Amino acid sequence: MLTLDFHASGRHFLQIPGPSPVPDRLLRAMSYPTIDHRGPEFGALGQRILQDIKSVFKTTQPVIIYGSSGTGAWEAALVNTLSAGDKILMFETGQFAALWNEMARHLGLKPELIGLPGYEGWRQGVKPNMIAERLRADKDRQIKAVCVVHNETSTGVTSDIAAVRRAIDETGHPTLLFVDTISGLACADYRHDEWGVDVTISGSQKGLMLPPGIGFNAISEKALASNKKATLPRSYWDWGPILKANETGHWPYTPNTNLLYALSESLDMILAEGLDEVFARHCRLAEACRAAVGAWGLEIQCRDPNLYSPVLTGVVMPEGKDADQLRKIIYERFNLSLGAGLGKAKGKMFRIGHLGDCNELTLLAALTGCEMGLQMSQVPVSGGVNTAMDVFIQQDRRPNAQKIVKLSRS
Ligand code: PLP
Repeated sequence: MLTLDFHASGRHFLQIPGPSPVPDRLLRAMSYPTIDHRGPEFGALGQRILQDIKSVFKTTQPVIIYGSSGTGAWEAALVNTLSAGDKILMFETGQFAALWNEMARHLGLKPELIGLPGYEGWRQGVKPNMIAERLRADKDRQIKAVCVVHNETSTGVTSDIAAVRRAIDETGHPTLLFVDTISGLACADYRHDEWGVDVTISGSQKGLMLPPGIGFNAISEKALASNKKATLPRSYWDWGPILKANETGHWPYTPNTNLLYALSESLDMILAEGLDEVFARHCRLAEACRAAVGAWGLEIQCRDPNLYSPVLTGVVMPEGKDADQLRKIIYERFNLSLGAGLGKAKGKMFRIGHLGDCNELTLLAALTGCEMGLQMSQVPVSGGVNTAMDVFIQQDRRPNAQKIVKLSRS
């Protein structure tokens, strides 16, 4: 049995870049009694969710909802559209892009991973010109899909998906475009239809504020056409039977009913606040976080200010200081969880999440924990929290700094 003897006094500060804190409203929705997933009430719920989720992806095309983590939704995108031995082009921006590449190899695809060399590549976004160059060289059109990550959660660097689309179009190459926005969705602007994305992959535990356990594939007509020809083995992930069952708001198997209650509630919250306001809120928090890091005199992992993530900020530790040791001190002393440096970035940096159900005071508390932890680790920093406070005060003087939002859609 789970015991709660690890519970410290006060609240835990979950400032990792997902899973993000789950609002009470969603937790309460999840506590509703589980209903018959083949019954009429469930069908009505399913239809509503399947319709509303489209607004968040900015698509009019189907969005597939899986009971899975984001990794499952990655796999679903590949097995639904590709065949064994197909070449695909992937761009390494960080740990998640690298893991997706590994998955593609395991599935019997032939992924080619391009990117800037070494660790530097983990401080930059996707370079559309490098994709275009590779596609131009692919004279006999062997590359079947280009795969990129919209918000690289391991680094805090975003990529310009519209520019990737333009670069592909300029080559006239017929490749599919797959985008992972597992941590970008409902935090940073994302436009599945306008950007001509064929499969968008996402998950529940970041901007949507749910616990982990739901994965998404938003799809295009072109992706659906590829689905008819693709021969990689698939059963659970197969879009066909799911789309059929979704017509009545159902699934071909038992869906995760109580997580879907939470998804319905989350969509209500996000659409009532308005997507633009959700994005603006994330930008305000990210701006204050970066200002604090600047005042500490530490570097931000992302090299290009145009690509700063509104979801998280990667903070580079000074030479000789271990980011994991810092995180351990901060967790043990202040009950604050920060994201670790992953893969090539292990120990070199830590990540502050400011996504989902986060506000100014939550972030200020997290920054206070960081500032104290840095000082306790003999990194001589000061003034970060005050600087972030000043940023918030200035933001509040801006005319668009709307704070109180409606609780339901009119
Ligand atoms: N892609 C990105 C950008 C992620 O941030 C994550 C998880 O954090 C994943 C993929 C993998 O998702 P999951 O851990 O839900 O399987």
